[in-house]
Amino acid sequence: MRQPKTLEYLYLDFDGFFASVEQQARPALRGRPVGVTPFETKDHSCVIACSKEAKRAGVKNVMPIRQAKAICPELVLVPQSPDLYRRAHHALLNEISSVLPIEAVKSIDELTCRLDGRDKHHPEMVGQQIKQKLRDNIGASITCSIGFAANRQLAKMACKVNKPDGLTIWHPKDMPTPLLCQPLEDVPGIGKRMHKRLMRAGIFSMRALWRLDPKHMRKLWGNVTGERLWYALHGYDIHAQPSKRCMYGHSRILPPDWRSLFHARNCSRLLLVKAARRMRRAGFYSGHMWLSLKGHNWRWGKQVALYHVHDDQACLRGLDEIWQHALNELDGERKVKQVGVALYDLSPQNEHQLDLFLQADRNRGKWETIAALTDQLNNKYGRTVISLGSWCPPPGGYAGGKISYTRIPNMEDFW
Ligand SMILES: [Mg+2]
Repeated sequence: MRQPKTLEYLYLDFDGFFASVEQQARPALRGRPVGVTPFETKDHSCVIACSKEAKRAGVKNVMPIRQAKAICPELVLVPQSPDLYRRAHHALLNEISSVLPIEAVKSIDELTCRLDGRDKHHPEMVGQQIKQKLRDNIGASITCSIGFAANRQLAKMACKVNKPDGLTIWHPKDMPTPLLCQPLEDVPGIGKRMHKRLMRAGIFSMRALWRLDPKHMRKLWGNVTGERLWYALHGYDIHAQPSKRCMYGHSRILPPDWRSLFHARNCSRLLLVKAARRMRRAGFYSGHMWLSLKGHNWRWGKQVALYHVHDDQACLRGLDEIWQHALNELDGERKVKQVGVALYDLSPQNEHQLDLFLQADRNRGKWETIAALTDQLNNKYGRTVISLGSWCPPPGGYAGGKISYTRIPNMEDFW
């Protein structure tokens, strides 16, 4: 494996992305502590993202609103605007790629670039150029932190060291000194459980982890991930394993007056239809579906086999089947706080084979044609003009386009 002697990667992470986009779009919010909420509310639910001013005051992402308000009484609550974040994401990417080609978009607010000959030797200049472009062409409210290193993993860690608006360079010739003072919990790939396991093995610091050999790391992790992390931390050019798509799903926190089983059922229909649309666009069929309901101190979930389908009628029939169980097992007064659906056990369209059950169901082909036509019409008009059954989104909208760090919604998700 190659161990680069120069900088090869840039990692960029926007600071408090959702809240800073809100501040950029709405000047009245600038310089104030802002908390983004899942829907219009004053005290129910959580702050799902907050601005740097709110962070400085001690507010954290995913904190109950009441707690956040107690810490920071002047906190301004703003309901999420996912479509705005999606448009900002694309505009920001445009500016960055005018300085440097983007190698991979890791999430809605994180990306990596590979450095070429000239840029390797002038990281400071490249970093400042990107920041300048964003300031001049997008606005000063959206800032980012940038890290440079020999590989992506180290660049990501460097990027988080000086937030917000940081620029950190971990040159191979200076390693491992800046790495050794980092806490173990800050290593991407060391979660809470792994951290505990390391503690039990007597590894309390980055220095101790650094001194292990690759085989020992493999043993501690119980698989090749540990060994890969060793090479990453030691500055080798190691590439991430390509991840395979395994499910299409959506979940939503229900507004206070929508927390009945009746509304949860309506909402789950919408979420499922949105997930099925995305699955069809990507060319997959699903073999199983899962519904989950969560309330205060309880959760309920069930799965059902779908026999490799992708049309709305088949998916909704599966959902009805699960809801029959839910209505039998849960008492009618239950307050549902969150509802989630997922289509999984996916197979690509070109590997799709008609199942015996499907052959028995002669109407399947017709329903698939109807789904394709519905998609075409909805695409043509840029919104949901046709749906199976009623289409009534919960207050706050955004049934399938809610904010998410890991998935960048498509325009179609907002219809
Ligand atoms: Mg960020």
